[in-house]
Amino acid sequence: MRRSIATVSLSGTLEEKLESVAAAGFDAVHISDSDILYYGDTPHSVKSLAGDLGLAIDAYQPLRDLEGLDDQAFRKNLDRIKRKFDLMAELGAPLALISASTLTSSSSDHERIAAQLRTVAELAAQRDIRLAYGALSWAAHIRDVAQAWEIVQRVGSPQLDLFINAFQMLATGTTSQNLREIPGARIAAVLLADAPLVTIDPVSKNRFYSCFPGEGDLDLTAFVQAVLKTDYTGALTLEVFNEAFRSSSSRQIADDGMRSLRLLEENVRLATSGDQAKVALFDPPPPAKVSGVEFLEFAASGADAEALDSWFTSFGFHKLGKHRSKNVFLYRNGRVNLALNSEPDSFAHSYYLMHGPSVCAIGLRTDDDQRALSRALTFNATRYEGRVGPNELSIPAIRGLDGSLIYFVAEHDAKNLYEIEFAIEPSKDGSNALLEAVDHLALSLPSGQMDSRVLFYRAVLGFEADATFLLADPNGLVKSRAVSSRGHSVRIPLNTSVGQLTGTARQVSTQGGAAVHHVAFECDDIFATVASLRKSGARLLDIPANYYEDLAARFDLKDEFTAKLKSAHILYDRIGKGEFLHVYSEPFQDRFFFEFVQRTDGYDEYGAANAPFRMAAIARLQRARDRLNVM
Ligand code: MG
Repeated sequence: MRRSIATVSLSGTLEEKLESVAAAGFDAVHISDSDILYYGDTPHSVKSLAGDLGLAIDAYQPLRDLEGLDDQAFRKNLDRIKRKFDLMAELGAPLALISASTLTSSSSDHERIAAQLRTVAELAAQRDIRLAYGALSWAAHIRDVAQAWEIVQRVGSPQLDLFINAFQMLATGTTSQNLREIPGARIAAVLLADAPLVTIDPVSKNRFYSCFPGEGDLDLTAFVQAVLKTDYTGALTLEVFNEAFRSSSSRQIADDGMRSLRLLEENVRLATSGDQAKVALFDPPPPAKVSGVEFLEFAASGADAEALDSWFTSFGFHKLGKHRSKNVFLYRNGRVNLALNSEPDSFAHSYYLMHGPSVCAIGLRTDDDQRALSRALTFNATRYEGRVGPNELSIPAIRGLDGSLIYFVAEHDAKNLYEIEFAIEPSKDGSNALLEAVDHLALSLPSGQMDSRVLFYRAVLGFEADATFLLADPNGLVKSRAVSSRGHSVRIPLNTSVGQLTGTARQVSTQGGAAVHHVAFECDDIFATVASLRKSGARLLDIPANYYEDLAARFDLKDEFTAKLKSAHILYDRIGKGEFLHVYSEPFQDRFFFEFVQRTDGYDEYGAANAPFRMAAIARLQRARDRLNVM
């Protein structure tokens, strides 16, 4: 399918925008009126630049507040339109989009509206310019696609067709079914934007919250299916207004846009399988099955590496052995593998220099590592190829959006990966196996990066995304949204701070960007695990007695059970029949912490109700340390 984007969606100068759009692989652009206004050179130079970059200029947009005026005002408007048509000729834009007027003084008389548009169409015909008229949900009169289509038919000019806008339809409750009456040949352009399901007026929603398809909650798959049913074969054009985009590079936004269109096409193709499509839709390798986190790799050197080593040991991890050719150690507890990488002159070391001690790589266990890699690459992920030593497997890897690595570990390689790469002391494995898996890996993101991340996990890894919700931090609000592999064997809750003072925001600034917020390990018996952790010296967070008073009342728990939780400082949550029992570690160097969890009966969340108790407990701990430092 032809793919296009409106320049208004991107940040930067018009040159930067066009270069980014071309680099991301788009076919065409809609040039925005405002971009020309702010541009320092002639429209003709924009045409040359786009041509040099291999980009078609499909349209110029929007012309607004043209129609339904009194005669005098309309005559004035015609002068303005003639100038815009001159500009379009110089730009080489064949089509102008006309948004329905928002002027409250304009007439609601459809005949007057159509007559004035007919005059504009006659003018356009003389210049060989095509026009498309479209509804705007906050227009004075023409607010939905049915009304706009009625006007286009009433105008009755071959010069003027309809354009449709997914956001305008779906965010205001019109269903895609309304497209059934419209022949595709009369649709001149299709604009796409997604949006989260929040209750807010449509103007603000469009200006601040509209996002690329796949980042929000609108059913754009059904929308595009309906568009294709009209026999429309033109371009899909992204048109998004988003405050967060202003702080991102145009290159990243364009890449996200292309990723989102490809994912949308894939979803449309899967939803319409069997139907004979008139346009070719993107057909990537389907997501490989991901069955868990095979390993986590930490980057640290010197005293930091020693500190992490003693933390891992206190969590019951056995130091199984050293890598055969690198300064990397393997730790194991039950089915959880951690690598601690202190190799100088390595990816891990440069990651450590930039971020401090941190998780620099995640290994995802998959049924098909090659398919996982090729899917990632078709969605514009960057491949990572490190040095492969003599005693090493070559495991396919990509860079995540923050530069950390994602390895795809084939299930058959997972069995002997460690024996091949590490000199393992067999006597050390097996005993004291408490942990079943990495339950979740929570990340803190700089503000404005949530949508981009969610799209990355959905497209590149084939993950699913939960709904967004807000968490109360003692110092502000934190927006949280979890992504997970199908079947939920890998869960990654993403957090981003709305304010600058929250723990999430502090963490992002301490670690120089997106970072692991905490790593949660799953166990079968949380009481036995906690007893063992305490014995081996793990530093777990104390939870105040008041928590348990409140808990017993909230869930109607038996006294004996509450007392057991209280004495072990275990937190508790329940949804339906599913229970979640968990403990937190103290933070490691105020960077990240660890969590130990037990889930039962399909509990599918993360104990968000208990997060404020963790944040308060950490704040208390920090105050106590500050007092000690003063003394
Ligand atoms: Mg957690």
